[in-house]
Amino acid sequence: MTDVLVAGIKVDMKNELKKFAHFRREMVEKQIVSRGVTDPLVLEAMSKVPRHLFVSEALGDSAYGDFPLPIGEGQTISQPYIIAEMTQSLELKGHERVLEIGTGSGYQAAVLARIVYKVYTIERNNSLFLQTRKLFDTLKYHNIVTRYSDGTQGWKQESPFDAIIVTAGGQQIPAPLIEQLAIGGRLVMPVGGNFSQELIRLEKTEDGIKTTNLGGCRFVKLIGQNGWDE
Ligand code: SAH
Repeated sequence: MTDVLVAGIKVDMKNELKKFAHFRREMVEKQIVSRGVTDPLVLEAMSKVPRHLFVSEALGDSAYGDFPLPIGEGQTISQPYIIAEMTQSLELKGHERVLEIGTGSGYQAAVLARIVYKVYTIERNNSLFLQTRKLFDTLKYHNIVTRYSDGTQGWKQESPFDAIIVTAGGQQIPAPLIEQLAIGGRLVMPVGGNFSQELIRLEKTEDGIKTTNLGGCRFVKLIGQNGWDE
């Protein structure tokens, strides 16, 4: 018996997971490998995670397209390539504890969960938080821990983190996140204005902070104490 409820609908999970395998492979080859992402752990994870189950059923067959998609509550799931690039920039090996700010649909957290030891993810929107937490249970992502709060303050009790990924854009990197990053850790976040940002990668070393700009991007707003006002 593999029937489970996804968004209130009874589905045969075995079939659901097998669905679109061809689209997933094509997505990885044509959108991700072709643009220079090479990390085998990232490519493997993205060829496995059933992206169509993280969007509404009506969008299921667009889930593997080269574009972002709406996930409700005015929020979006990023284009697959951006997710691949951000994940690769964290240089993960497998043993890490990673913090994500902006759980949203849960897709990014699921990609991370296939690569690392444990994912901590924070969402400020209650309806997305509840919906996605249920989905993680259904899909048996047992190494994802969720929290409903303002992610711009980080998750002090569980810090330090080996890597931090922020999937919403702010004017600057929230100070608590830099504090909660381990020495040797990497953080990636869209930084800039309301409508467009630059993807910033930060590395925390014994000698201080090193940042690099990975290029332009467009994310929804990071809202909170150390982000935009509501
Ligand atoms: N990583 C998500 C992307 C979701 S869009 C995915 O894979 O689908 C960004 C998300 O960040 C939205 O769900 C939004 O509600 C959330 N968000 C914005 N500000 C936040 C904050 N301060 N703390 C936690 N989540 C926040």
